[in-house]
Amino acid sequence: MFALRAARLFDGNTFVSDAVVVIDGSRIQAVGSDAPPGVDVEDLGDVTLMPGLIDTHQHLCFDGSGPLEEQVGGVPDEALLERARGNALRALLAGITTIRDLGDRDFVTLPLRGTPGLPTILVAGPPLTRDAGHCWYLGGCCNGREDLVAAVHERHRRGCDVVKIMVTGGALTPGFAMWDSQFDTDDVAAVVETAHELGLPVAAHCHGTDGIVTAVEARVDTIEHCTFFTSGARSEPDARVIEAIAQAGVRVSATLGRHPEHRPPPAIEANLPVVLGAFRQLHEAGGVIVVGTDAGVGPAKPHDILPHAAKDLAEIGITGTDMLATLTSRAAAACGVGDRKGRLAAGADADLLAVRGDPAREPAALLDVHGVWLAGAWVPR
Ligand SMILES: [Zn+2]
Repeated sequence: MFALRAARLFDGNTFVSDAVVVIDGSRIQAVGSDAPPGVDVEDLGDVTLMPGLIDTHQHLCFDGSGPLEEQVGGVPDEALLERARGNALRALLAGITTIRDLGDRDFVTLPLRGTPGLPTILVAGPPLTRDAGHCWYLGGCCNGREDLVAAVHERHRRGCDVVKIMVTGGALTPGFAMWDSQFDTDDVAAVVETAHELGLPVAAHCHGTDGIVTAVEARVDTIEHCTFFTSGARSEPDARVIEAIAQAGVRVSATLGRHPEHRPPPAIEANLPVVLGAFRQLHEAGGVIVVGTDAGVGPAKPHDILPHAAKDLAEIGITGTDMLATLTSRAAAACGVGDRKGRLAAGADADLLAVRGDPAREPAALLDVHGVWLAGAWVPR
């Protein structure tokens, strides 16, 4: 058993003054004003101690080089697994202690879960899509409702943590445009109903506004991207749909985190100010926003990009402790692991991040990592 003290402590929701975190094995035993007698207290000095960060949307088997299909095409499973391991480690060194992987090829990331020294990984396996649909080459093609339901059962049988469905097309697959829907509301509702019966949350990839409406009606758990694309490759946010998302309480996993050097794809970059405006409206309407970086899809999205999202969140109006909660406790709740992750509290997993300075006042401090602890163990740098 040991304890950590720091100049500042953010517990996932708020700053707690003059507190120590007592760690017993892989769990937090207590957060209080003093450690029990005989327990060593390490004083970290002028740093902020907080829960490890949570990225709600990554792709560990992509490496950001070239078209997605070519990144995985012809690559043996073992090589993808090694790539995923390296990407997860890179994320960990930036303080990302939980990763939700929303799309691998042929379930290759499943064996990584529970590997000592790697972040907690929540695995979706291949996203549900349709023939020639978005990311069909990952192996999740479904033809019709029966097929979709069977695919959910297969993911449950294999032990996946979440079901991902491509409700609309995407920027990077020809065949279905970003604004085209690949499934109707009854299809998506069948997936959600089946997944929920089996205890699995559903993450819905949606760029098109029609697809977003479908996802809200089908009661998915998170809407990924939520860019409000309409034909003509333009983002045209619909105030009524934004209101409906907030009313339904469906969390939006916003694709944020911009690289200081690499730029996003042109279709995204051109529409980004409008999309950020939509997220601001959603936030103001009481909607819940978390951050999924889509790490892996391109050179602008390395697997440690999440801390850069603090800057984007500020543009949406999410700052200070609100920003820190977004990247920790709120993300944990959105991924269904709020009981174990994203909090410094008795009983939670001892996944911690210490950064120099105060990220609530100066978001760039999130990039200045002093140390990371994973399941109670200090991560060597
Ligand atoms: Zn993605």
